[in-house]
Amino acid sequence: MCGIVGAVAERNVVNILLEGLKRLEYRGYDSAGVALVDNSQHIQRVRAVGKVQELVNAIEASPVAGTTGIAHTRWATHGSVTEANAHPHKSTNIALVHNGIIENHAPLRDMLKEKGYQFTSDTDTEVMAHLMHHERQSSGSLVEALQKMVKQLDGAYGTVMFDQNDKDTMVAARSGSPLVIGLGFEENFIASDQLALLPVTRRFIFLEEGDVAEVTKTSVRIFDKDGNPVEREEIESDVTHDAGDKGVYRHYMLKEIFEQPISVRNTLEGRLANGTVIDDAFGHNAADVFKDIEHVQIIACGTSYHAGMVARYWLEELAGVACNIEIASEFRYRKSFVPKNAMIVTISQSGETADTLAALRLAKEIGYKSSLTICNVPGSSLVRESDFNFMTRAGAEIGVASTKAFTTQLVSLLMLVLALGKHKNLSAEQQQNIVAALQSLPNKLEESLDLANDIEKLAEEFADKNHSLFLGRGNQYPIAMEGALKLKEISYIHAEAYAAGELKHGPLALIDAEMPIIVVAPNNDLLEKLKSNVEEVRARGGILYVFADKDAQFASDDTMRVLNVSHIDEVVAPILYTIPLQLLSYHVALIKGTDVDQPRNLAKSVTVE
Ligand code: GLU
Repeated sequence: MCGIVGAVAERNVVNILLEGLKRLEYRGYDSAGVALVDNSQHIQRVRAVGKVQELVNAIEASPVAGTTGIAHTRWATHGSVTEANAHPHKSTNIALVHNGIIENHAPLRDMLKEKGYQFTSDTDTEVMAHLMHHERQSSGSLVEALQKMVKQLDGAYGTVMFDQNDKDTMVAARSGSPLVIGLGFEENFIASDQLALLPVTRRFIFLEEGDVAEVTKTSVRIFDKDGNPVEREEIESDVTHDAGDKGVYRHYMLKEIFEQPISVRNTLEGRLANGTVIDDAFGHNAADVFKDIEHVQIIACGTSYHAGMVARYWLEELAGVACNIEIASEFRYRKSFVPKNAMIVTISQSGETADTLAALRLAKEIGYKSSLTICNVPGSSLVRESDFNFMTRAGAEIGVASTKAFTTQLVSLLMLVLALGKHKNLSAEQQQNIVAALQSLPNKLEESLDLANDIEKLAEEFADKNHSLFLGRGNQYPIAMEGALKLKEISYIHAEAYAAGELKHGPLALIDAEMPIIVVAPNNDLLEKLKSNVEEVRARGGILYVFADKDAQFASDDTMRVLNVSHIDEVVAPILYTIPLQLLSYHVALIKGTDVDQPRNLAKSVTVE
């Protein structure tokens, strides 16, 4: 969500900043801007509402240049989407960008107004620029002013700024919103995500919570939250990013749907041996901790939450480990009971989800003994703050609506079931069966992608609908929820998911020919129950779209369209049935002409509360 890029160099950095912003575009944002300074010691600022291309056009029309610069893509939290509210914000000689939310912006604004500062935006961010200017008057250095400034802030921030009178220095602070320093040769960079800096460097230093940094062409100084100078480890990144390349696909989302067989293969690679998961796959000595775990508390948001819901079915049924799951934004604000021998498991594509990170910190505080994160971004905050991590290895996911991150999370969670279950209820034979089912998945996923053409045709029947219902039972219920979320996210059609047994407790009242009902129906123990639910819908004139195992014996007729999905071991069926639902949302969105990769109002990695 929102992005920051900064650079200090000998050369003009404007193109580095714009390229960096483009690489962060997939996160979703509403406006963008840059501020630069050169030998004239005068801030040049350009801002534009809309895509980064609008900013590029504005700069082409009236070029700016500078050897030090900062740039931002904004996802508005305070103040509407206007040029005046776009970052960078200025206060005389200071230019500043910010990701996050300043909660005490109102009293700070009042205090600064009393001192004579004039505000030109409605953002919470502008108070930081003026406060920084104010502190600069009585501080020996820019970094000292920043240290004094951040002490007065409540809320979350990743922020970078420069002073036109000290033009070869950028300073930055991190609290609740990630920042990474990129190291170059006689030039240095800073960004909210390493992806933005991959064209200029692979050497990175991740700032930690509470860190303040001063970055010049030739030096980096970091201070911890108490103001003490600290050394942070430099890492060589092996992350790849081919954001410029959609290949043969029209959208990143479609590319990412089709990448799933390969992503799942990558998730499994090197982690299974002798009919189970290898002990160290979750980290050194993980088995020593895992053997005593009796309770798992899963915390996640959005799509990751649905992955966690499937895991709850698996953990309790297969591993015999008690499992609770909660939405991070709820968990973090309530008093919860901490069971004995419990582990907290967070799930997040980006590893920077603000609510999930806050929930992890709370869990540690209230007494969870160990923590594990299932995450797609190495070096992210959740990875660094958890005892154990398991990387999903989905590769960079650019489409805002998550696809391959979800299926690789499910695969990872099933491997967690193996890792925990081997110390509990799971027999060697059951472990072998799960491993075989996991290994069969990539090919089955390939087969399910062959449904794309049929689904494209089916999608036409949805395009004029305003509402829809998704049904599933057991571990397919969360898959129905994920299907509904996908349709909402990218086609803007209202979609709800129900556990099929719940229909008669209310939602049946909604059924008519205008409400398509999507059903996921693998051939499992609950099939007969599900069939009864399907009949309940048919009896009331509903039109059904059933994704069914070919042996489940559903037949297409006037009120029911059936699409057959390959037969697969029940344990991994939730992963397989995800694919047709993703394809359905994609094709409906395509017909409706929405912005598939960057749906309205949404952002990729939700680093604000
Ligand atoms: N709260 C700030 C604003 O509304 C920053 C939002 C962001 O993280 O992009 O401008």
